[in-house]
Amino acid sequence: MKEKYLIINAGSSSLKFSLYEMPDNIEIVNGIVEKIGEGDSSYTLKFNGQKIKKSKEILDHECAANVMMEELLQDHFINDISEIAGVGHRILHGGEFYDSSVLIDEEVFENIKSLTKLGPLHHPGELAGISSISKIMPNASQVAVFDTSFHQTMPKENYLYAVPYSWYAENGVRKYGFHGTSHRYITERLKGVYGENVNAIICHIGSGASISCIKNGKCYDTSMGLTPLDGLVMGTRCGSIDPSIIDYISKERGLTIAEINEILNKKSGLLGMCGKNDFRDLTALSNAGDKNASLAIEMLKNSVVKYIAQYYFELEGNVDSIVFTAGMGENGILMREKVVNAISGAIGVELDKEANDNISRFKANQEGIISTPDSNVLVMVVPTNEELMILRDTH
Ligand code: ADP
Repeated sequence: MKEKYLIINAGSSSLKFSLYEMPDNIEIVNGIVEKIGEGDSSYTLKFNGQKIKKSKEILDHECAANVMMEELLQDHFINDISEIAGVGHRILHGGEFYDSSVLIDEEVFENIKSLTKLGPLHHPGELAGISSISKIMPNASQVAVFDTSFHQTMPKENYLYAVPYSWYAENGVRKYGFHGTSHRYITERLKGVYGENVNAIICHIGSGASISCIKNGKCYDTSMGLTPLDGLVMGTRCGSIDPSIIDYISKERGLTIAEINEILNKKSGLLGMCGKNDFRDLTALSNAGDKNASLAIEMLKNSVVKYIAQYYFELEGNVDSIVFTAGMGENGILMREKVVNAISGAIGVELDKEANDNISRFKANQEGIISTPDSNVLVMVVPTNEELMILRDTH
């Protein structure tokens, strides 16, 4: 029998949803409710190549979930709420509670709530999403799919920081890692080629970016930390910096820690360096002679190279594949070229320039191998599919 599943990605002021039919993974409709509680809220639906946008006052997440359900019923995407067999939620933080996806019950809900201090921007919206669905569909099974759970296999020496141990034991200060659903999807794909014990370096480079070290098919290390701020130079996030900068700049500029945190998350990275955070804008600026844009591209490239180098050594050189994925990884031809050329001599890989030039969203191929056949490590581009993972887990 065909069953329908709803996938929800609730943000602080938005609610994205997709309705699927299983077992064939067919997307029937997707949509987004935006600017919830901001006065000028609206929602958009996409189905059969059509896009419909409507303005409507939407006060909170419950109101957004009701609007979603009314549309699904009114347009006969479903004829009755009971047709929806399950609802999958993307949840930022599973802390140390969860190393895989779980069916949401009261205890799970409370655990997610208790992790709000580690995901203050994400968890309130996500919890509101779960509560709203519980009210509308009290009998539907709901599943939480965490961004952190895939990284729970990291050994302690890789996830602890060298700070007082009590900060970990009593306050949960440790590396959790994020983008886990994407890293897991790519790892599953690689297992299909290399088997269960695959070793790989996965570069998920979107506006948020992280690199994972996969050893024997499991996460062994990853670049993001307690929060998604650590690691690589990102679109608007600084990545790893000397922690002393916070105290120093607060005194120099009279900023509070909250203000600095906001700047490090939203006004740093590529944006902080040259005023743009999209790699396409950066490339255009750089081509037009903007020195800071060129510098930002080099800094991003160097931060990627540093993590690849570190993980190459953590895997003792036994790397089946280096994979690029997410917005910039899948489409940033220039960035991939720069990274592969930078690691070429040390690792013994050479870029297949023609293959690389032809892989991007609007090119002949969306995935493929971009290293030459005689390279020591296979370098690939593989589009990620986090939604498919959430759907499968929920199913
Ligand atoms: P996130 O999910 O973290 O918001 P995405 O994975 O969607 O981010 O990636 C978005 C980023 O991908 C953009 O900011 C841009 O830098 C990059 N990107 C998208 N398309 C292209 C392209 N054609 N060429 C280069 N970079 C691109």
